[in-house]
Amino acid sequence: MTVDVLIEININKKDKTFTYFVPDNLKKDISVGKRVLVPFNKQELEGFILKINKGTSEDLKSIIKVIDEDSILNEELLLLGKTICEDNLCNLVSIYQAMLPKGYKASKKSNVKEKYVNYLSIVDEEKALNFISTSKAKKQVLILEELLGGDKELKEFSYQTVNSLIEKGLIRKYQKEEYRIKDEVREKNVHKLNEYQKEAFNKIIESKKDIVLLNGVTGSGKTEIYMALIDEVLKEGKEAIMLVPEISLTPQIISRFKEHFDENISVLHSGLSTGEKFDEYRKILRKEVKIVVGARSAVFAPFTNIGIIIIDEEHSNTYKQDHNPRYNAIEVAFLRGKTHNAKVILGSATPTIESYARAKKGYYELVKLEKRANNASLPIVNIVDMTKELKKKNRIFSDELLLNIEDRLNKKEQIILLINKRGYSSYLMCEECGEVLKCPNCDITLTYHKSSGMNRCHYCGYAESNKGICKKCNGSMRLMGYGTERVEEEIKKLFPLAKTLRMDIDTTSRKGSHEAIINKFYNHEADILIGTQMIAKGLDFPLVTLVGVINADTILNLPDFRSNEKTYDLLSQVSGRAGRSDKLGKVIIQTFNTDNYAINLSKNHDYEKFYDEEIKVRKRLYYPPYSFIALIKVGGKDFKETINESNKIASYVRNKLRKEIVLGPSVSSLSKINNIYYFEIIIKYRGKEEVRNVLNEVRSLVENNNKIKVEFDINPSSF
Ligand SMILES: [Zn+2]
Ligand SMILES: [Zn+2]
Repeated sequence: MTVDVLIEININKKDKTFTYFVPDNLKKDISVGKRVLVPFNKQELEGFILKINKGTSEDLKSIIKVIDEDSILNEELLLLGKTICEDNLCNLVSIYQAMLPKGYKASKKSNVKEKYVNYLSIVDEEKALNFISTSKAKKQVLILEELLGGDKELKEFSYQTVNSLIEKGLIRKYQKEEYRIKDEVREKNVHKLNEYQKEAFNKIIESKKDIVLLNGVTGSGKTEIYMALIDEVLKEGKEAIMLVPEISLTPQIISRFKEHFDENISVLHSGLSTGEKFDEYRKILRKEVKIVVGARSAVFAPFTNIGIIIIDEEHSNTYKQDHNPRYNAIEVAFLRGKTHNAKVILGSATPTIESYARAKKGYYELVKLEKRANNASLPIVNIVDMTKELKKKNRIFSDELLLNIEDRLNKKEQIILLINKRGYSSYLMCEECGEVLKCPNCDITLTYHKSSGMNRCHYCGYAESNKGICKKCNGSMRLMGYGTERVEEEIKKLFPLAKTLRMDIDTTSRKGSHEAIINKFYNHEADILIGTQMIAKGLDFPLVTLVGVINADTILNLPDFRSNEKTYDLLSQVSGRAGRSDKLGKVIIQTFNTDNYAINLSKNHDYEKFYDEEIKVRKRLYYPPYSFIALIKVGGKDFKETINESNKIASYVRNKLRKEIVLGPSVSSLSKINNIYYFEIIIKYRGKEEVRNVLNEVRSLVENNNKIKVEFDINPSSF
């Protein structure tokens, strides 16, 4: 017997399996989808068994060890990986690795293991009772009495006393596997749907379509509908997957789900330790849970009888992995939905233009939810023209925003301020020669962080201490623009009595800190929460009646065809945080682009109107949904060589695809990162099959070109 094993060696090259001999003593443990340890170039590496072959060959190397008791990749996932690979031009091995949590990935060393706990139990009840009634050893008697009530953990008792009982043969020690996350028993919370939710729920259940778009305004109670849908699926004995953007996997959402579904749920998110992830995944493999809630990769949960896949905030770009393998979890959900004959639900207050267009055309069932739950009104939105404020020397805060902050503080209500830039300043510029301070590795400006006194690159992590002096002319450097740190400092100056909290990558990098900030704000231990867009999603704070967007233009100014859509999304999402209970909410949006339709239309919460405007632009510029987009990203150390190679690729593609639009190569929006230069070739196309073939040809052509690294991104989330 021999097996074909897939090993992760060089993910830039096409997949190749290696054949190994299976020694007799390992034959019984062999099955497809398990990991094995194999010798490879004087190393020992882990890989996945993809195929079992009869017959044998003397000169093959033998596998060393079978790692898994059961296959960790089932037939469906093995096949799914192949489809994803073909669609996205990535490696099979990288997809399989992406499907698995750390601890289950094939790696050089996998050191995550089950956690075992020592327990004690009575050997013979009669003997124990006898000992209790006759012995004078008080401590030993006490232990026996406790153990008669049931087995207990070893660590609860003195080691010496336990040992003498074991020596007497009265008790024994044994090990039991224990999950690292222990759930306290929660009070079961049953939600009742209101009439609008009930209507939407019925429409979804009755729909004959495979995919449903649930378009509900913020605060309309989409989560309640999700839970009711999952309840239905559980009744049929089936399983459910629910995806949420990483950032909205907040303690608030998790506890709502745990209250509703008890222990029947496994939650996967980046806040878990490797061991915790390993355990949660085991619960799924062992069929101890029927529901998985998690970020992008939870779409690969190894369920075998899926009844529904829900994707909340479907517009979120976190569903597309922005590094290799560049898969889109929503497309994976469609594939799995088809295999299992399960409905896929896309939920959003602001769907992507592509999804909404498909729903309007009838490819998806469109279900709308236009009323907020408990009849709260949508907040009033005011747009403030910052060009006028600048004339009054108001650089960060408009008069209107300051007046409203003061008013809410007096009323003991809470405020959220959004500034989509972390750090203190946006960039540093020399007052004498105008030189802007850039990262030495990247073509990106450095951001000053006051708390650490460092200038940092947000792309490669480079940091240097801020000397305040121009490297070119020794002039003094001026801080330009502002980030979360600066906004917090200014607020403290203006409102010295107000308590503030700041939430951005810098304040949430430690485990549990994100949760701590949310809890503090929820318990009204602070009046003002200042943060980047991570504060915009999913959070529910009843006392927040004012949301201020310090600068709505940050996303608008990015060179991305989705910049209007993303601006509209962010403004709607953050507005949705205001006035979620009985108090009316207010939103103040500060901008230099008062004419922009994305900003203006967010005022009336009118997604439909925004869609009508945006779709015209997409049509005129031949962007999705009118075309598909593929991006070829060429990176190299040498500027000249990289551009030459990029030109060659572009003309090859142009020649082969005469019907499609091929743009570039152009300097990418981040032209140099970590000393690598990047160029982009963009294809806008309709002929899916044809383009995929040509891209595969390009892939083969550049495979052995060591001067450059080429990456493909099908339907990129931004460019
Ligand atoms: Zn200078
Ligand atoms: Zn850098």
